[in-house]
Amino acid sequence: NKLVAGFVGVGVMGRHMVRNLAEAGMVVQVFDVVPEALEALPRHDNIRLAKSLPDALSGADIVITMLPDTPHVEAVVFGEGGIVATLPSGSLFVDMSTISGHTTRVLAEKLSERGITMLDAPVSGGPVGAENGTLSIMVGGDADGFARAHPFFKAMGETITHVGAAGAGQTVKLCNQLICGINIQAICEALALGRACGVDLEQMRDVLLGGSAASWMLDRLGSQMISGDASAGFRIDLMFKDLRLVMETAMQANVPLPATALVTSQYIDARAHGEGGNGNQALFKVYDRMTAQ
Ligand code: NAD
Repeated sequence: NKLVAGFVGVGVMGRHMVRNLAEAGMVVQVFDVVPEALEALPRHDNIRLAKSLPDALSGADIVITMLPDTPHVEAVVFGEGGIVATLPSGSLFVDMSTISGHTTRVLAEKLSERGITMLDAPVSGGPVGAENGTLSIMVGGDADGFARAHPFFKAMGETITHVGAAGAGQTVKLCNQLICGINIQAICEALALGRACGVDLEQMRDVLLGGSAASWMLDRLGSQMISGDASAGFRIDLMFKDLRLVMETAMQANVPLPATALVTSQYIDARAHGEGGNGNQALFKVYDRMTAQ
């Protein structure tokens, strides 16, 4: 008998994760509130488009969510036909979105009172990592739940790590995002300076990728920054959401994060100028304005 996953949220990331689960031999019952997102999925014998949320959850060995933000996950947990209303005791729920660590701990606690195990398992690696099944997956929650979810994680990711109790996955993911945000800002500053001094930016990117300033962001986003291609993989709006979560967590933990605070302000600036739906490389537009380019 094939393992069955109920999968909710098939946007930029979820659509690839669903295909990888299906190709690994699992039956995937998929639901999204946007019908076009469902229609965009590849045709595969193991992918079944659910008619409703409870239809996707029915009979599932695991329920996975890949949704934008905290309120969307709360809606799937507490909403009509959702996890609390539908799943029997003993079920396993894995949220792979990036959401509030505090809310994650509250959800895990409330669900455990109903006999439902919840893991937080946010990911890093972007749409390319999702497509290739090479995501880094950071998992919070109990060890038994981790073991049950592991075959599904293996279908979607490469680096799969149990990092602690409920919410710990989100903590590690937010630390990841803090580094990504500041790294994007550092690349913007280098490109702004190089441009003002008249060097060839594409050549500069190649040179930097061969040395100690190389980074995932410079590799994946550098060329798009230089050419002004703002098409979205990971949207400005989603990174702003992550930086907001980082800052909220830092306030609660009494940790000053001066560099994150500055880059968060620049994301507010980018959104105010209509860049929210564009990819993160569009942060460079903030520097275009500052340098009157
Ligand atoms: P997305 O907006 O492209 O996809 C989210 C999907 O969820 C959409 O199709 C939307 O219609 C659906 N949805 C929203 N509310 C719903 C509900 N109540 N019920 C059912 N479906 C609902 O987002 P994404 O880029 O795929 O990111 C998903 C999550 O993964 C986010 O938390 C993001 O921060 C995180 N993430 C994204 C990337 C990336 O590069 N895009 C990388 C790592 C992590």
